[in-house]
Amino acid sequence: MKPQVAFFEFTSCEGCQLTVVDLLQTHPELLDAIDIVEFREASSSKADCYDIAFVEGSCTRPSDEAKLRDIRARAKIVIALGACADLGGVNAIRNPMNLIDVRTYVYSDKAEWFDTYPARPISAVIPIDGAIPGCPIDREEMAMAVTHLLQGRLPRLPDYPLCIECKLKENVCVYQRGGVCLGPITRAGCQAICPSYGAACEGCRGLVPHPNIESLKQVLRARGISETDIEAKMAIFLSYQTTQEPEASVQHGNH
Ligand code: SF4
Ligand code: SF4
Ligand code: SF4
Repeated sequence: MKPQVAFFEFTSCEGCQLTVVDLLQTHPELLDAIDIVEFREASSSKADCYDIAFVEGSCTRPSDEAKLRDIRARAKIVIALGACADLGGVNAIRNPMNLIDVRTYVYSDKAEWFDTYPARPISAVIPIDGAIPGCPIDREEMAMAVTHLLQGRLPRLPDYPLCIECKLKENVCVYQRGGVCLGPITRAGCQAICPSYGAACEGCRGLVPHPNIESLKQVLRARGISETDIEAKMAIFLSYQTTQEPEASVQHGNH
């Protein structure tokens, strides 16, 4: 019997699940190896238990917690899918703000209808077995993670910074072109795709283990970047991670 795989979403844009749908077009052989038993974005089938549950999206309201615990109870393996689930992602930008103001800004006079609290990664609510980082996920990394899971191994992530991949690609550094980039504190694994296309890394894969954030801030200050702009740059994807105690932030398997 093939492993039963399910996909779930919480607060997210569902772009990571869309990447999975896209992946299944280019790697249809995966469908010979797994049974997708629940995947709202692509199928109407349902199941009661799963060998592997991929969970996209952040926990952003009290009712999410019971749903996450239910998935955990039904699944042998739970993997966070994408930056929203792995880091809190862009949803956590609002965490330092007044949430009543945020709700009013988004929902106007209907703000009271919508329950919300600070965005958290799913690992803040349930134990997880691994993560596929990125916004969106990298499809080849996802294919590799599924392959590892089918072999009985958990997905493992690089424990070195993005700059290493960037240098191996012989890119001209964004700093040498007068810009700023979060590559020195960001976990590698995307093959430095943004700097390879001339853009700065915004840290969507989360912090590398033991990041020297203060040193990077000194570099940014030396570039004349204001404290407000430094905080804003770090807040895009790292808002939750940079406000947690080091031991509280999840460190995934490394290689
Ligand atoms: S990580 Fe990015 S692409 Fe994936 S669901 Fe969240 S916002 Fe969308
Ligand atoms: S462009 Fe960014 S990732 Fe590449 S070497 Fe420079 S700082 Fe590092
Ligand atoms: S270069 Fe940075 S922002 Fe771009 S995909 Fe990689 S980790 Fe994310």
